Amino acid sequence: MAYFDHHATTPCDPDAVEKMLPFFTEGYGNPSAITHVQGRAAAMAVREARERIASFFGVAADCVIFTAGATESNNLVIRSLVSEGAHVVTSAVEHKSVLEPIRTLERSGAAVTVIDVDSQGFVDPARIESAIEARTKLVTIGWANGEIGTIQPVEQIARLCREKNVPFHTDATQAVGKIETDLSVVPCDYLSMSAHKCYGPKGVGALVARKPMRLTAMMEGGGQERKLRSGTLNVPGIVGMAAALDLRKQRMTSEAEKLRELRDALVDCLDSIGGVSINGPADEDHRLPGNLSFTLERVDAEAFIMAMEKFALSTGSACSSGDRQPSHVLRAIGLDDRAALSTIRVGLGRGNTMDEVAAFCADAARLIPKLREMEL
Ligand code: PMP
Repeated sequence: MAYFDHHATTPCDPDAVEKMLPFFTEGYGNPSAITHVQGRAAAMAVREARERIASFFGVAADCVIFTAGATESNNLVIRSLVSEGAHVVTSAVEHKSVLEPIRTLERSGAAVTVIDVDSQGFVDPARIESAIEARTKLVTIGWANGEIGTIQPVEQIARLCREKNVPFHTDATQAVGKIETDLSVVPCDYLSMSAHKCYGPKGVGALVARKPMRLTAMMEGGGQERKLRSGTLNVPGIVGMAAALDLRKQRMTSEAEKLRELRDALVDCLDSIGGVSINGPADEDHRLPGNLSFTLERVDAEAFIMAMEKFALSTGSACSSGDRQPSHVLRAIGLDDRAALSTIRVGLGRGNTMDEVAAFCADAARLIPKLREMEL
């Protein structure tokens, strides 16, 4: 089975796993229980991890809050900054963990502007600038899109938000560890991430800020994480996340090159089959290296995925309890329902090889005509 779904999650790097293991057994202390050696050792491990993660993002250590992942980080910043009567600006291609809390806040009296994107998924910074009002309390735009790979002009958006004195948050879950996300270069005020999207463990992530955060906690309790996120810290997860990010620093650039080659080979083979359109940015500098989204004429995406049984693929559409909904991202770039339900997302990652790509091409070339015959 070739794993082509690295936007959904990535395998945890064995080096990161090795660094985590002692914290399940001998290093089991609670980092808040510093009256004894075990607790202090855990606190020290968390401190070191926090410093390394902060340095990855170009911020100070007290600007990193550990969470259970990007969903929590997104909710924390959005729910904290946007309340009744406030205005928030976002885009039509955000992840559900951004759009859903915003919809809930809208129902309780917040004003919302959702910016449309162009046919490649780009948000126009000028549209954001003109959407900002005196009551705007937050602009939130994802750094990179997990379906179609679009890398947004976050630096431009961050700078204009700074000029307008409006906090700018970016959900960087799909960008971290794949492209540079240094907040000392790109001045986002808040950044969300999940470790499992960049070869770290699941269930752990962070909210990172350029300055120490002044937010309101969603949960109250023991007051961990500067009272912003009560609850015993996930020490192995935090250690694993720091190790995974260290590895990303070393490998990101060379891997991106390899992923582009694999993607280009896939595009060539799909072109030769015919009746395939590629979604997302044409220019590789503005696209996530391992991403490929394509729409097959006269082929149902789920039928294709089932037929391609040796490959782990996903649709561009979110499926909930058997009720197939066309993806809001694909709709936002102008695909109709039929095209959206004929769209496949490939997420290539560090373990993928040219042999796997060749096998994919051979199977696709054999199966796509058959599936088209069945549709007739
Ligand atoms: N944002 C984006 C862009 C994502 O792709 C995901 C995961 N699919 C999330 C947020 C949520 O991450 P998690 O499930 O780890 O909280």
